[in-house]
Order: sequence, then structure tokens, then C-alpha cells
Amino acid sequence: METREHIYVGGQFIASTGTGTIEVVSPHTEQVIARVPDGTREDMDKAVAAARQAFDQGPWPHLTPAERADYLTRLSQLIQGRMDDWARVISSEMGSPFSFSQMGQVFASTMVLDYYAGLASTYHFEEVRNGIMGPALVRREPVGVAAAIIPWNVPLFTAVLKLGPALLAGCTVVLKPAPETPLDAYLLAEACQEIGLPPGVLNIVVAGREVGEHLVTHPGIDKVGFTGSTAAGKKIAAAAGAQLKRITLELGGKSASIFLPDADLAIAVPQALGSGFMNNGQACVAQTRILVSRDRYSETVDALAEWTAAQVVGDPLDPATQIGPLVAERQRARVEGYIAIAQKEGGKIAVGGGRPAAQSTGWYVEPTLVVDVEAKHTIAQEEVFGPVVSVLAYDTPEDAIRIANDSDFGLSGSVFTADVQAGIDVARKVRTGTYTVNAFALEFAAPFGGFKQSGVGRELGPEGLAAYLESKTISLPAGTVVPGVPIV
Ligand code: NAD
Repeated sequence: METREHIYVGGQFIASTGTGTIEVVSPHTEQVIARVPDGTREDMDKAVAAARQAFDQGPWPHLTPAERADYLTRLSQLIQGRMDDWARVISSEMGSPFSFSQMGQVFASTMVLDYYAGLASTYHFEEVRNGIMGPALVRREPVGVAAAIIPWNVPLFTAVLKLGPALLAGCTVVLKPAPETPLDAYLLAEACQEIGLPPGVLNIVVAGREVGEHLVTHPGIDKVGFTGSTAAGKKIAAAAGAQLKRITLELGGKSASIFLPDADLAIAVPQALGSGFMNNGQACVAQTRILVSRDRYSETVDALAEWTAAQVVGDPLDPATQIGPLVAERQRARVEGYIAIAQKEGGKIAVGGGRPAAQSTGWYVEPTLVVDVEAKHTIAQEEVFGPVVSVLAYDTPEDAIRIANDSDFGLSGSVFTADVQAGIDVARKVRTGTYTVNAFALEFAAPFGGFKQSGVGRELGPEGLAAYLESKTISLPAGTVVPGVPIV
């Protein structure tokens, strides 16, 4: 049993002002594995004050981007050196299969840190434009103190999607991890101390929703970077909007994978289902609707069912496990509720649908394939956030695009075809923020985010950095030369 008694503020571990604790429960054993302080409003006030001081008086925003990038590189190297330890912690607290924790949670996070460290040398934080009225120096300055609010499903990764660009930009940050996954956040705090990140540049307080709301509305916060549910995103947007705070919102998804009639099933099935069941189906970018042409329907359903039935379900810490438990009992109840609704509305369970008999404890749901789903069914419209993938039939590629777009969400998507150009045509017509042809992938050097109710703004790529910058235009007398600044 691990016990933490401190919050991380101003580069120090200090006592929480409250006495409440959060119990971290293993989704596999259902046993309490750790206790951490339940952060209070006063804790958050301290964290914001430290971040404010580090921004307003500290050297941090005035270091060069290369100097700030150096900290990102050191953080990445430190995490990479202890990748298995970090992966074990994440698997223990939220149930992600160890192999996914290694690559999808931890290594991917270091790749994001490395990407932003590298961007320091190519991004134009200042440029001179030969404008209509004369030369103008355009600067990109840090937006200020950022609140980073993250979910439990990919805690470290969603944290670095904000920390990488925010720290490179020169912002200081208050990070609020989800109460389900505080333990990796403590590792992050320790790592920041170890690399000598200046005090107050990153502050971490684990807390629940109400204290999260306090952080969002805190006058010391200039920008909110949020990943989580669409419902919470709307509340945060409203609260931030009332104060004209900058926001980036990464929200839910219901992404469609279109198998065109000429798709190679040997590629399409593992790629689409690999994403659909990724992280036990608890992934915002999961391809949870598979759209199959009617004339290849039964052949494709057979291949999808075979792949689904072969998934190894079990202890997330076992390296052989492909599907672990859901994060919490309430999440299992939610997923089971969606499976029941799917059947009531006409969907048929081809594989799974229940709890795996071999697991005596843990919040497991079998990898489940629901076939004969129609676009209007609840299971095709709402985010389940569990190992449940739906299969829908379409008549023509235009029909498939219409079904893919028949969604309130627009986060990810994919198309599989022997004709890559035809795939690009489909990609152009689907209203979604990221798309892949003949694979499932997330590109870190390009923008990631949602159309429609999947979010506002973008993370990753230079666009993700721009989200933590304010543009300033300084008009200059004719003929002015600004040494060292490129003219564009
Ligand atoms: P959630 O919205 O309940 O909580 C996310 C975080 O926000 C937690 O830290 C929570 O304490 C905090 N929070 C909740 N309400 C708040 C409020 N009103 N003010 C301030 N903070 C608040 O989501 P969850 O259940 O933890 O995560 C699952 C959701 O996250 C899914 O919908 C999933 O699609 C989404 N998600 C999206 C992405 C993406 O990049 N688009 C990535 C991962 C997860």
C-alpha cells in the first residue's frame, strides 16, 4: 500500500490543507493500493499562486526556447530510463494492459516531449513581416498560467500533450490529474524535481471535479487545456468563456472505420479492432463503428469475430494481456448498460457481451462485437468507453460517408481500401479532426483534435504549441532591421 501525504507546489512536496484522502483501487483486484490527499480549493490556490509567481517574476518565460526545450529533453530521458516502472504504475491504477502502458502511455509520452523539444529550433517565436504599412515584428509570447485538467484513461500522455507545448511556450502550469490516476502524477512531480525544473513551473494537485471547477474559474489562470468528457468540456467552456479564458478541449469520440469493398481484411481487421479495443476500449480515438459494404458483410463479420474472440483478457500487469479491466465498477455498469440497450434496439452480439468467467475479481467486460447495428441505434451514437465495437452495413461508399458523418462527434476515423487515392477522397469527406488511410495512427507532428462535439482547438504539431501562445504585433519604422529574426 502506497501512501502519499503531499501535493506538489512551488517545486516542493508540501502538506495538503485538507484531511480528505482519495483511495486508489486496483481495477484488477478491487483492493485499495494507495491513498493520496484529496486536494482542496486552498491547495489549488497555493498551486496557482506558485505558478503565477513563476510566470510573473520567474525567469521561466524569459529563458530561450532552447533552454526550456532542454528541460523537456531531460524529462523525456528520465522517463524513458524508467519506462517499465512508469508503465507498471499506470497499469496498476487504471487497468491498461502493460504492453499498451509501455508503448501507448509512457513511450508515446516521451515522443511528444521529444517532438516539442525539437520544435524549439524550427518554430518562429519571432518573425518580421514586410507588411502593408511597413515592417512588423510578430512575436509569439506565452499565454500565461495554464491549467491542465486530464482524465484517467491516458493520464501521462494527456498531461504531456499540454505540458510539452505549454512549457516550451514559456507558460507555467497547474496540473489536475483525475482522482482515479494520481500515482503516475506523483512520479511526474518527482521527475520534475529531479531534473531541476524551476520551482512553480509545474504544480500538481490531485482533486475531484469541484476543485477542478475552482481551478478553471480561478482569476490566476489564463488558459485551460482540458481532456475529458464532452459533458465536462461544455461546463468548462462555459465557465472559461465567462472570463474570456483561452481554452483547448479534447473531448469524446465515436469514430468510424470504413472498409471499402476492396479492403484487404488482413490489414483492416487488426488495425480497426486494434484501435477499437485499445486501452480496453477506453480511448477517445477508438474506432468503435466499423462500416462494412453489404456484399462483403458476412465474410467481414466472420473475420472481425475471429479476431475479437482471440483477444487475451486478464491481469493488466501480465505482459501477455491484450484486454484488461475497466477503470471502475461504475464504468463496467455503464458499458454493460450500453450492451443491453444495443440488444434491445436490434443489435446482435457476435462475440462477448458478458463478464469473462476466468476473472474472479476485477471490473472486466469481455471484448464484445455487436453486429447488425444501425446508425440510429444508441450504440452507434454514444461513446461507450469500453471494449465494445459495433458493425454497420452500408450500400455504397457515399452511404458509408453519410453514416460516418451521422454523429455528434468528429475526432478520428479511418478507411481501408486497395486504392489509396479513393481512400484520400473518403478522408476529405468525413467531418473529423484526424483520419488514417489503411491503418490506425496518431501523428504527433500534426494537429490532433475534434470537429463538432469532440472538442475545440488542437493539440500536437505546431498548432498545439500555438494554443499556448499569444501573438503580438510590433509595427516598426520603415527600414528597421531586427537582428537574428527571420523575415517571412
Ligand atoms: P471527465 O470529464 O469526467 O473528467 C476528466 C477530468 O476533468 C478529471 O480530472 C475530472 O476530475 C475533471 N473534471 C470533470 N468535470 C470538471 C469540471 N466541471 N471542471 C473542472 N474539471 C472537471 O472524463 P473521464 O471520465 O475522466 O474521461 C473519459 C472521457 O475523456 C471520455 O469521454 C473520453 O473520450 C475523453 N477523452 C478524450 C480525449 C481526447 O483527446 N479527445 C483523450 C482521452 C479521453
